[in-house]
Amino acid sequence: MTRDASSANGSFDRRQFLALAGASAGALSLGSSSAVASDTSVTGDLDGFDCEAPTFECGQQVTAAAGGMVSSEDPRASAAGARVLAEGGNAIDAAVTVQYVLNVVSPQASGIGGGGFMVVYDADSDSVHCINSRERAPRDAHPEMFLDNGEPREFDAAIQRSEAIGVPGTLDALETARERFGSRPRQRLIRPAIRLAAGGFTVDEYLSEQIAENVDKFNDAAREVFLDANGNAPQPGDTLVNEDFARTLESIARDGRDVFYEGEIARDIADTVENLEGGPGIDERDLADYSVTIDEPVRKEAYDFEIVGQPVPTSGPTTIAMITRMLEFLGVEEYDLRAPEKYHLIAEANRVAWADRDQYMGDPEFVDVPVEGLLDDDYLRQRASRIDLESVVADYAAGEQVPPGVPPGAPERFMPEWAATADAGRPEPAGATAHFTTADRHGNVVSYTTTIEQLMGSGKMVPGRGFMLNNELTDFDFEPGGPNQVQPRKRPLSSTSPTIVFRDGEPIFTAGSPGGFTIITSVQQAILHRLVYGLEPLESVLEPSIFSARDFDVMWEPDVPTAALEYGEARGQPWAEEPEEIGNVQVVEIGADGFTGAADPARDGLAVGVHRAQVRGKSPDEHPESKRSKSKPEGRR
Ligand code: GLU
Repeated sequence: MTRDASSANGSFDRRQFLALAGASAGALSLGSSSAVASDTSVTGDLDGFDCEAPTFECGQQVTAAAGGMVSSEDPRASAAGARVLAEGGNAIDAAVTVQYVLNVVSPQASGIGGGGFMVVYDADSDSVHCINSRERAPRDAHPEMFLDNGEPREFDAAIQRSEAIGVPGTLDALETARERFGSRPRQRLIRPAIRLAAGGFTVDEYLSEQIAENVDKFNDAAREVFLDANGNAPQPGDTLVNEDFARTLESIARDGRDVFYEGEIARDIADTVENLEGGPGIDERDLADYSVTIDEPVRKEAYDFEIVGQPVPTSGPTTIAMITRMLEFLGVEEYDLRAPEKYHLIAEANRVAWADRDQYMGDPEFVDVPVEGLLDDDYLRQRASRIDLESVVADYAAGEQVPPGVPPGAPERFMPEWAATADAGRPEPAGATAHFTTADRHGNVVSYTTTIEQLMGSGKMVPGRGFMLNNELTDFDFEPGGPNQVQPRKRPLSSTSPTIVFRDGEPIFTAGSPGGFTIITSVQQAILHRLVYGLEPLESVLEPSIFSARDFDVMWEPDVPTAALEYGEARGQPWAEEPEEIGNVQVVEIGADGFTGAADPARDGLAVGVHRAQVRGKSPDEHPESKRSKSKPEGRR
C-alpha cells in the first residue's frame, strides 16, 4: 500500500508552527537570550502579569533565564509559577502553584480529584525524591470488579461507574511537597488559583472542546459549572467562573489537607461515589487512610547520560530506560533522524520493552517487579539482539506478539498468560493528563505528571466543590491474573513518565507528557532527539514521533516520511492508516547559563523564564546556590 505521508495530514502540523515562528528544523538558532513567540494573551487573566515585564521571558522556547523556569501546557499556570519564582519561591513552591492553577483553567486534565507523580531534585542534598500520589483502590476492591458477566466491561461504560474512581492523591502530594521542600506558605501558593476560580478565566479552545465532547458523562454538578443556562458549552474566549472550587480552595488554604481527606470534603466525595452505579467504591475510610509514598527513583545509564524518574507503579521511566539502552546497543544514532531504519528500530525496541512491561510491572507494594533484572545490561543486550533491520521479532500480521523475556530475578510466579490479558479494556490513547517542569536558581528541579486519567476523568464533579473525580482505576487490567490486576488499596500501573536526565551527576534535562500509554514513546523520543541527535529542546518536542506497543499498529505523526512506512511494512511491521498527533511534551534544559524551557504548541503551552536579576532579594551576578557547575547537554551528532 502506498501512502503520501506529507499530504495525509488533516490535523495541526507542529512543523508548520516552527515555520510560522520563523524557524525550521535544523535552523532554529537561539542566542543567549531568546524566545520563540507564542500567544500569551490569556496570561492577562492573572492580575497584572505581563510577559513584557523585564522580569519574565515568555515563549514556546525560552532561554537564558537563570532566575528560574516554568514550562507547562497552560500560559496562566506557567505565569503563576514564574511569579512565585520571581518572588523568591523555589521550584517546589512554583510546582504547587502550577498544579492548583491547572486545576482551575485545565480541569479536564488534572486536579485534586486525581493523582500523579512529582519527581523532585533537591539541590541542597543532591538527591531525587519521587512523591507518588497515584490513586489507590478502595479496601473492598477485588480482581473481578471490572468484569460484567465474566467479560471485561466496555471501557466507556466502566469509566463512569463508582469502581473506576480511585482515592485521589494530588492534594496530599502538594502538601507533602510543600512541607518537605517548599519555602512559601500554603495560602500564597493557592491564591492565584482562588482568584482565577472566583474571578473567572478565559476558556481556551481546548477546554471548550473538551467540555462539549464530554457532556454525556457529566453529572449534574459538572453540567452546572461547565454549561450555561441553556446547556451549552462555553465558547473559546468566554469567561468561566467556578465559585464552588474557589470555596474548596479557600477551605484547603485555611485548614490544609485534613478538610479533604477527613473533613467535609471527604464526606462529599464519598457521597458522590456512593450515588453512582457500580461498586465497590471509595468511602470516607479509604480517604482517611490515604497517604502518598516518597519513592527512590529508578536510574539507568544510557549513552553518556542517566535516566532518572518515578519507578513503578508507573511503568514510564523504567520502560523508557529499557528502550533507550536497547536503542544504544542497536546503534540507532548511526541512522539519520528521519531514516526508515531509525523508525524501524524504535518500533521494535518499543514492542520488546512493552512485552516485559505488561508481563512484570505493577504496584511494587503488591508485586515483586524485577526492576534490576529488566535494566540489567546483559539482559537488555540479549533482548535487543532479537531485533534486526530486515525483519520483525514476531509475525504481527498473524496476531503474534513479542514474547516477554525472563530477566534476572523474574518472580517464580512466572505466568505467560499474564501478558496476554493485559490489553483487555485498554482504551485508545486520549491525551488526557498534564506534565510540567519547574526549576529555580538554587538548582532545584521538579518534573511532575498529573492526571485524572481520561479527559474530564469520570465526568463526575463533587457537588458544591467544583472539582472532577478521576477514573484512574480503569488503568488496572480488567481481567484478573496479572501483576496489574485489581487488589484492595493497590495503585494501578501507569504510563506517565516524569523524568529528569542527569549527566556527570548533574540534572541536565527534564521531560514528560500526557497521552496515556503513548507517553512512554513521546518522552523517550524527546530524550533521544535532544541528547543523542542533538536537536534544540523545542525541536526535540516537535520532531515527529511514532508509537508502538505489543499489540498496536505503529502510530505515527504527520511528517514521518512515507519511506519509513514502506520500509516497515515490507518487513512485516504494521503501520496505522493515518497519522495523528501524539503527546504534548514539555521539556526544560538546565545549562551552564540558566534554563531553556520548551512547551509543546499543540496545547498552547508556554515556557516562562525568570531573569535572575529580577528575582526578589537577589543580586544580578549572584552565582547559583548550587555549588556544582552545569554542563550543557550536547548531541552526539
Ligand atoms: N491514566 C494514564 C496513566 O497514568 C494517563 C492518562 C492519559 O494521559 O491519557 O498512564
